[in-house]
Amino acid sequence: MRIDLHTHSRASDGTDTPAELVRAAARSRLDVVAITDHDTADGWAEAAATAVDVGITLVPGMEISTGLRGRSVHLLAYLPDPTSPALADELNRVLAGRESRVPEMLDRLRHLGIEIGADDVRAASHGAAATGRPHIADALVTLGVVGDRTEAFDRFLGAGRAAYVNRYAAPLEVTIRAVTEAGGVSVIAHPWGRGGLGRPDEATLAHLHDVGLAGIEVDHQDHDAAARDQLRAMARNVGLVATGSSDYHGTGKIDHELGCNTTAPDEYERLMELAREAGVRSERVTPLVTDGPATGTA
Ligand code: AMP
Ligand code: ZN
Ligand code: FE
Ligand code: FE
Repeated sequence: MRIDLHTHSRASDGTDTPAELVRAAARSRLDVVAITDHDTADGWAEAAATAVDVGITLVPGMEISTGLRGRSVHLLAYLPDPTSPALADELNRVLAGRESRVPEMLDRLRHLGIEIGADDVRAASHGAAATGRPHIADALVTLGVVGDRTEAFDRFLGAGRAAYVNRYAAPLEVTIRAVTEAGGVSVIAHPWGRGGLGRPDEATLAHLHDVGLAGIEVDHQDHDAAARDQLRAMARNVGLVATGSSDYHGTGKIDHELGCNTTAPDEYERLMELAREAGVRSERVTPLVTDGPATGTA
């Protein structure tokens, strides 16, 4: 069974529509795919409808921007009720922070002699709820200023570059609790990569587990073999689920093809069991996994 638990669509900064993403997942011989756009559930309905059509299992999720000790940390949340008040408020604050940052970044580009309008960014984002630097990068590509997203990040948009502007994020622990309250489970994305914990020690992970964290992403392109070994060992010691995924962004990110890393079936089953328990405890109406024929998971 091939399981990929972290992918992006045009609902945030991926380049495939949710339907295209799910069709591409089926073509890549995945049995299970999670849609995890940044800070929004907008792609879920379209992805679920397509999953029924193509016979793949679809797990609704999102990747929420958070912060810990001055670092940006990405938190994957699976099967939360996005209308749960604490989570909905948090997502609204993050999305507002993404929006208000755009004109500031465009100002900085203007000072560098590069004229891009808010309309150009909106055209690049196709109206996505979560506007991100990749959309500004796409506008720069369209304008012919850079060749691709990577060049845009290297020259202008990456942390510390001339057009970079930071944005709002809630503390990691606050967001973990909001996800739990919403009946979902949380997994730290690429903990050892960009937008991660740095080099988390076991004590930090044990504490986060106590707060309600369910797992960490171990098999991710940001992690080399040594990092994966250490993270897997820490997950085992602390009792966290270890996941693997592509972090697919369509053509927006090279070397992140669907299924390039996968989650072991027993780890997936553990995560889904924790989600079932969290859903019941929350007393909220949590979203369902759309069943593909291959797994038989409810
Ligand atoms: P933002 O959400 O605006 O903070 O932008 C971060 C997003 O940009 C993440 O989804 C990353 O995957 C993406 N990203 C970061 N660096 C690069 C890069 N060098 N090339 C393409 N995408 C990138
Ligand atoms: Zn992204
Ligand atoms: Fe991320
Ligand atoms: Fe991601």
